Amino acid sequence: MAYKTYDNDNIFAKILRKEIPCDIIFENNHVIAFKDLHPKAPIHLLALPKGAYVDMSDFTNNASTEEIAALFRAVGELAKTYGINDSGYRIISNCGIDGGQEIPHLHIHILGGKQL
Ligand code: AMP
Repeated sequence: MAYKTYDNDNIFAKILRKEIPCDIIFENNHVIAFKDLHPKAPIHLLALPKGAYVDMSDFTNNASTEEIAALFRAVGELAKTYGINDSGYRIISNCGIDGGQEIPHLHIHILGGKQL
Protein backbone atom coordinates (compact mmCIF):
# COMPACT_ATOMS: atom_id res chain seq x y z
CA MET A 1 0.00 0.00 0.00
CA ALA A 2 1.32 3.44 -0.91
CA TYR A 3 2.63 5.54 1.95
CA LYS A 4 1.66 8.77 0.23
CA THR A 5 0.33 9.41 -3.23
CA TYR A 6 3.19 10.01 -5.65
CA ASP A 7 2.85 13.17 -7.74
CA ASN A 8 3.88 12.24 -11.29
CA ASP A 9 4.27 15.92 -12.16
CA ASN A 10 7.05 16.65 -9.67
CA ILE A 11 10.18 18.06 -11.28
CA PHE A 12 12.37 15.04 -10.56
CA ALA A 13 9.79 12.74 -12.18
CA LYS A 14 10.04 14.97 -15.27
CA ILE A 15 13.84 14.74 -15.19
CA LEU A 16 13.60 10.94 -14.91
CA ARG A 17 11.26 10.87 -17.93
CA LYS A 18 13.73 13.17 -19.79
CA GLU A 19 11.00 15.77 -20.22
CA ILE A 20 13.23 18.51 -18.88
CA PRO A 21 16.97 18.78 -19.45
CA CYS A 22 19.42 17.83 -16.75
CA ASP A 23 23.10 16.88 -16.71
CA ILE A 24 23.02 13.37 -15.34
CA ILE A 25 26.34 12.62 -13.61
CA PHE A 26 25.58 9.02 -12.58
CA GLU A 27 23.07 6.46 -13.73
CA ASN A 28 22.44 2.75 -13.28
CA ASN A 29 19.35 0.51 -13.24
CA HIS A 30 18.00 1.99 -10.02
CA VAL A 31 19.57 5.40 -9.47
CA ILE A 32 20.33 8.71 -11.14
CA ALA A 33 22.31 11.65 -9.80
CA PHE A 34 22.85 15.24 -10.85
CA LYS A 35 24.21 18.48 -9.43
CA ASP A 36 21.88 20.60 -7.32
CA LEU A 37 20.68 23.66 -9.22
CA HIS A 38 21.29 25.90 -6.19
CA PRO A 39 24.40 24.44 -4.56
CA LYS A 40 24.83 25.02 -0.82
CA ALA A 41 28.46 23.81 -0.86
CA PRO A 42 31.27 23.53 -3.46
CA ILE A 43 30.04 19.98 -4.12
CA HIS A 44 26.27 19.55 -3.88
CA LEU A 45 24.88 16.47 -5.59
CA LEU A 46 21.47 14.84 -5.51
CA ALA A 47 21.07 11.06 -5.77
CA LEU A 48 17.63 9.61 -6.29
CA PRO A 49 15.98 6.29 -6.98
CA LYS A 50 14.40 5.80 -10.38
CA GLY A 51 11.38 4.28 -8.67
CA ALA A 52 8.46 6.51 -7.72
CA TYR A 53 9.06 7.02 -3.99
CA VAL A 54 7.86 10.15 -2.27
CA ASP A 55 10.40 10.24 0.52
CA MET A 56 12.62 8.17 2.79
CA SER A 57 9.65 6.69 4.66
CA ASP A 58 8.00 5.57 1.44
CA PHE A 59 11.32 4.19 0.20
CA THR A 60 12.26 2.24 3.31
CA ASN A 61 8.73 0.84 3.60
CA ASN A 62 8.15 -0.06 -0.02
CA ALA A 63 11.37 -0.30 -2.05
CA SER A 64 13.18 -3.58 -2.67
CA THR A 65 16.39 -4.38 -0.85
CA GLU A 66 18.14 -4.06 -4.21
CA GLU A 67 16.84 -0.54 -4.76
CA ILE A 68 17.79 0.53 -1.24
CA ALA A 69 21.29 -0.91 -1.55
CA ALA A 70 21.72 0.69 -4.98
CA LEU A 71 20.91 4.17 -3.70
CA PHE A 72 23.36 4.03 -0.82
CA ARG A 73 26.07 2.42 -2.92
CA ALA A 74 25.61 5.23 -5.44
CA VAL A 75 26.16 7.80 -2.69
CA GLY A 76 29.45 6.12 -1.84
CA GLU A 77 30.47 5.97 -5.49
CA LEU A 78 29.65 9.64 -6.01
CA ALA A 79 31.70 10.64 -2.97
CA LYS A 80 34.69 8.87 -4.49
CA THR A 81 34.11 10.27 -7.97
CA TYR A 82 33.81 13.83 -6.68
CA GLY A 83 36.89 13.58 -4.46
CA ILE A 84 35.17 14.01 -1.09
CA ASN A 85 35.54 10.45 0.16
CA ASP A 86 38.58 11.32 2.27
CA SER A 87 37.85 14.96 3.12
CA GLY A 88 34.34 14.10 4.27
CA TYR A 89 30.83 15.10 3.39
CA ARG A 90 27.29 15.35 4.68
CA ILE A 91 24.22 13.53 3.42
CA ILE A 92 20.72 14.86 4.03
CA SER A 93 17.31 13.68 2.95
CA ASN A 94 14.53 16.08 3.80
CA CYS A 95 11.36 14.13 4.52
CA GLY A 96 7.88 15.60 4.53
CA ILE A 97 6.58 18.91 5.78
CA ASP A 98 8.58 19.19 9.00
CA GLY A 99 11.68 17.99 7.16
CA GLY A 100 11.36 20.87 4.71
CA GLN A 101 11.10 18.65 1.64
CA GLU A 102 10.31 20.72 -1.44
CA ILE A 103 10.30 18.09 -4.17
CA PRO A 104 8.22 14.99 -3.42
CA HIS A 105 10.52 12.40 -5.02
CA LEU A 106 13.06 10.94 -2.60
CA HIS A 107 16.51 12.39 -3.02
CA ILE A 108 19.69 12.37 -0.98
CA HIS A 109 21.71 15.59 -0.85
CA ILE A 110 25.49 15.01 -0.83
CA LEU A 111 27.37 18.10 0.34
CA GLY A 112 31.10 18.59 0.61
CA GLY A 113 34.18 20.36 -0.68
CA LYS A 114 34.56 22.55 2.43
CA GLN A 115 34.10 22.20 6.17
CA LEU A 116 30.36 22.45 6.74
P1 AMP B 1 14.43 19.40 -0.98
O1 AMP B 1 14.09 20.63 -0.21
O2 AMP B 1 15.19 18.41 -0.15
O3 AMP B 1 13.22 18.81 -1.65
O4 AMP B 1 15.48 19.86 -2.07
C1 AMP B 1 15.19 20.04 -3.41
C2 AMP B 1 16.48 20.45 -4.08
O5 AMP B 1 16.33 20.30 -5.47
C3 AMP B 1 16.91 21.90 -3.81
O6 AMP B 1 18.20 21.90 -3.23
C4 AMP B 1 16.91 22.53 -5.21
O7 AMP B 1 17.95 23.45 -5.38
C5 AMP B 1 17.07 21.33 -6.11
N1 AMP B 1 16.52 21.46 -7.46
C6 AMP B 1 15.30 21.90 -7.82
N2 AMP B 1 15.14 21.82 -9.15
C7 AMP B 1 16.27 21.28 -9.65
C8 AMP B 1 16.73 20.94 -10.95
N3 AMP B 1 15.97 21.13 -12.04
N4 AMP B 1 17.96 20.42 -11.08
C9 AMP B 1 18.74 20.24 -10.01
N5 AMP B 1 18.38 20.52 -8.75
C10 AMP B 1 17.16 21.05 -8.57
